[in-house]
Amino acid sequence: MEIKAYAKINLGLDIVGKREDGYHDLRTIMQQIELYDEIKLYAEAESGGNTDKGQILIGCDDTMVPTNEKNLAYKAARSLFDEFEITDAILIDIKKHIPVSAGLAGGSTDAAAVLCGVNEYFGLGLSEEELIERGAKIGADVPFCIVGGTAYAGGIGEALQPLGDLTDYHVLVAVPDTRVSTKWAYGRYDEIADEGGIRHPDIDQLMAAIEMEDFGCVPDFLGNVLEYATIPDYPVISKVKNTMMSSGAAGALMSGSGPSVYGLFMDEEKAVKACNALEMFELVPKERIFLTAFHNRS
Ligand code: ATP
Repeated sequence: MEIKAYAKINLGLDIVGKREDGYHDLRTIMQQIELYDEIKLYAEAESGGNTDKGQILIGCDDTMVPTNEKNLAYKAARSLFDEFEITDAILIDIKKHIPVSAGLAGGSTDAAAVLCGVNEYFGLGLSEEELIERGAKIGADVPFCIVGGTAYAGGIGEALQPLGDLTDYHVLVAVPDTRVSTKWAYGRYDEIADEGGIRHPDIDQLMAAIEMEDFGCVPDFLGNVLEYATIPDYPVISKVKNTMMSSGAAGALMSGSGPSVYGLFMDEEKAVKACNALEMFELVPKERIFLTAFHNRS
């Protein structure tokens, strides 16, 4: 079985509270893009039969990604194998295209794809809602990655509301060659938030623009409070945003906790101009720049 696991960007990300358990309450609007990891599931017989009962083996072409029980795709498969007492062995082969630790939910989307894949492969009969429940235990972005398309997420990411399809834009994603720890970014945000001066994005207006198909307004409402945390330590993010805007982007924003930046362009030529400028100024290596599009559910 072959599955595409799509990356996401955050069109809006606001932090509205901190829970006793240390998690942050978010209000975010996420959007899948046409950048995906390729995942193949092979059952025991196809993998050559050299496996133990119930064994889950992970293969991955990216050495930055763990292939042990720390891999989120492993955790996803393990949770269903344990719950449904699956005794077959399975090999999960992951071809990474989504940069790691970039704010694009690379690990979460692999986990979501494996939950859905194992459910189908072994005929477990779980509904989307039941998959979301299990996904939320693996990671905050996993429920969204199961639902896909465009969606609002509240709480720690589990309260999902799918939104209408977003169209009209070319999406340029540029991932500076550095990694940002999500945990670090949230910790830094807490320190900065205590000092005040945070401008919060208007998530309701953004949601209304999408629901009313007023796509021309969407760039006006893009906003991510985690920029306050990450950008001071990673100034390249500002430079990438500025380069996109001066090349003609309608809007540009950091995704998640960074360092990925995306620009929304009405005009493909301008997006190509931005690609060239990012390369020319050596802000982002060519292989970490993706001229892509929104990925919709329908
Ligand atoms: P998010 O946007 O959800 O915060 P991210 O895009 O910033 O996530 P990931 O690419 O998901 O970050 O990687 C975060 C960590 O998860 C890395 O340390 C990586 O080693 C680990 N990881 C575990 N499983 C995977 C996987 N299947 N793909 C990528 N990273 C994984």
